[in-house]
Amino acid sequence: MLFKKLEALYNDNKNLAKAYPFDEYFPLLQLFISKEVALGSEYLSPYRFALFFSKPTKDAVRFFLGLADSEEIVETLYKYECDECGTISILKDEEALFNFKCKQCGFRDHLVKTEYLSEVKLLFRINEDLHDEVKANLKNNPLSDKIETAAANSERGLEEEVSLASIEESLYTDDNKPISSKALQIKEKLDSYRRIMRMRD
Ligand SMILES: [Zn+2]
Repeated sequence: MLFKKLEALYNDNKNLAKAYPFDEYFPLLQLFISKEVALGSEYLSPYRFALFFSKPTKDAVRFFLGLADSEEIVETLYKYECDECGTISILKDEEALFNFKCKQCGFRDHLVKTEYLSEVKLLFRINEDLHDEVKANLKNNPLSDKIETAAANSERGLEEEVSLASIEESLYTDDNKPISSKALQIKEKLDSYRRIMRMRD
């Protein structure tokens, strides 16, 4: 299932295909997702991916931005902790982010602070169907204890969420091509949000 999904994405996204060759990255992603699902993760952390495969963090973040072009693989969500009451909100899209209103206390943050965005994080959630299939496969072929122990020791403390600043640093490949249309879309929406905020200031 992952093979077909990744292959379809690579056919659509040539910048991703060039920067992260399929033959190298399909097996890495397959192992990584199996490991994370085995450990009970709902979200994929680019930081754990980077550590597990000894890749530069920025490259791993960029890889996940490329993957985000296919919601069949990962879905991007925004995470924000309310300044007023500490409740964590998981927001599906930029509209919900820019019109933030805490469900718990009703606090609206965005209208008063431009630095609001620096506290927003992006999450990569494993596609539900993919998650269920990987989980079913694990029952038949459990991963070796070695992998689980190694992962449990060093990586569990790493965050799942990525700051928008890191995202913006990772949008382009080394030859200056956007890594995905999802990444471009995020950037354009953030830029227009900032323009509006500057006009208000
Ligand atoms: Zn609140």
